[in-house]
Amino acid sequence: MSKYSKEIIIGVIPVILVFLAFLEFNIFPFIMMAALIAALLFIVRPKMNIPAKGEAPGSKLRKPAPMSFDEIGGQDRAKNELKEALEFIIKHEEIKKFGIRPLKGILLTGPPGTGKTLMAKAAASYTNSVFVGASGSEFVEMYVGVGASRIREMFKKAKAAAQKENKDSAIVFIDEIDVIGGKRDGGQHREYDQTLNQLLTEMDGIHTSESPRILIVAATNRKEMLDPALLRPGRFDRHIQVDLPDKKGRLHILNIHAKNKPLAESVNLEKIAEESFQFSGAQLESLMNEAAIYAMRDNNEFIEQKHLTLAIDKVMMGEKTDRETSKEERERVAYHELGHAIMAEVVTPGAVSQVSLSPRGPALGYVRHNPQQDQYLYTKEYLEQRIMIALGGAVAEEMFYGNRSTGSRNDFEQALNLVKMMIDSGLTSLGIVDRDMVTQEELMKANSVILEELTERTRETLEAYRAVFIQSLSILIKEEVLSGDQFRSLLAMLKQKSTA
Ligand code: ATP
Repeated sequence: MSKYSKEIIIGVIPVILVFLAFLEFNIFPFIMMAALIAALLFIVRPKMNIPAKGEAPGSKLRKPAPMSFDEIGGQDRAKNELKEALEFIIKHEEIKKFGIRPLKGILLTGPPGTGKTLMAKAAASYTNSVFVGASGSEFVEMYVGVGASRIREMFKKAKAAAQKENKDSAIVFIDEIDVIGGKRDGGQHREYDQTLNQLLTEMDGIHTSESPRILIVAATNRKEMLDPALLRPGRFDRHIQVDLPDKKGRLHILNIHAKNKPLAESVNLEKIAEESFQFSGAQLESLMNEAAIYAMRDNNEFIEQKHLTLAIDKVMMGEKTDRETSKEERERVAYHELGHAIMAEVVTPGAVSQVSLSPRGPALGYVRHNPQQDQYLYTKEYLEQRIMIALGGAVAEEMFYGNRSTGSRNDFEQALNLVKMMIDSGLTSLGIVDRDMVTQEELMKANSVILEELTERTRETLEAYRAVFIQSLSILIKEEVLSGDQFRSLLAMLKQKSTA
């Protein structure tokens, strides 16, 4: 067709219509029909992802800057496992010689923000492959077949990009694979099923001799949701866990993100790594960024320790808010937070790092705890202590006001989750049970027996520290913060008085 064919058609149609009108033909139905077709194309075209003129299929998919494994902090075990798996791509000739089937899929699992996307990008640089990435949600459409066609396009795009860049391998990265790879239920979500089927078909079509060789790396934080067909041998049969970093990993990540920032010489990043317990890589990146913002706001030339400490609170609790609270409310919040702090200090001496009355995010006050040792197993006693710390706020309010407030909602949620963990781990009077084996009433009863008993124990403990509540309250109201050391010296004074 000539390159002017569209223009010719656009010119000829009105001439024909005018001619027919001149012959007294009723041209109204033709005009309506044309308008309807134009409107339909206008709506459906973007949904079907039909590329506009000049736009390559799948051109909306992201193309990242190259990156290396050195730019990923911590995660040594996951990085080594991934590098080992990538040898399959690098040593492809040897693999062919031994008749080993190619590695088709690697699944990275772990909490959000731990660096799974970074790993996939680093894998592409490490193997000198092109990288094509998309998120599972980009394949979700209400129109049946659209997701499947986008999968096809992504694989086509990966092959075309590899040919264009003269590379003989490509890494296709699918983030949030659980969105399209969830367990199929045989009916409800036909569109999702078709998308997943297409992905399986593309995976089955990967062969050793094929060029460019394709490796699919997928990421999820809900592995248990995935369809077993995706996980069977020959598909995503390499699973690599990407966990929250430990202290050494956190320090490494902080150092990576501090590289382009002016840190004061006095800054102790090791202490920050210690205090940012359970932070993900993404949160640590945000911590360094927020610290730099605080330093800039202070007109400082360098980022100081205090900026980093403030940034930990900001990332953990949200921005300081300027909510004006009444004197009565501030007092209640102070008693509530002191209730948590005293319980925490009683069960683990040295646990409190700071009690604060300044509102942050949704909270009106908070207790910052000192970092603890990374821990993976919990005893019954430990869980009970955590529940008592959570209940401390509500119990303190009852002690001083005779009632509770809505401020304990999150604490109760936390306490209930801990009780649930105790029940599921066979640490209650119900014994070793499955939730389906007991009635709702039995569960309710076990739940309230535990909570009532622990509330009583919390009350007995806190009653012995009434004097500390009163003394700490005046400092907190005046200064807004009470440091862990200040707080501990008040507790120690009380102990001395009672033994004297
Ligand atoms: P999600 O599951 O939410 O997709 P993810 O695990 O893929 O998250 P990334 O997208 O890789 O996380 O990380 C987000 C950002 O957090 C990165 O751009 C980087 O700045 C920072 N980050 C996360 N983990 C690390 C790490 N291990 N080392 C350095 N930076 C990290």
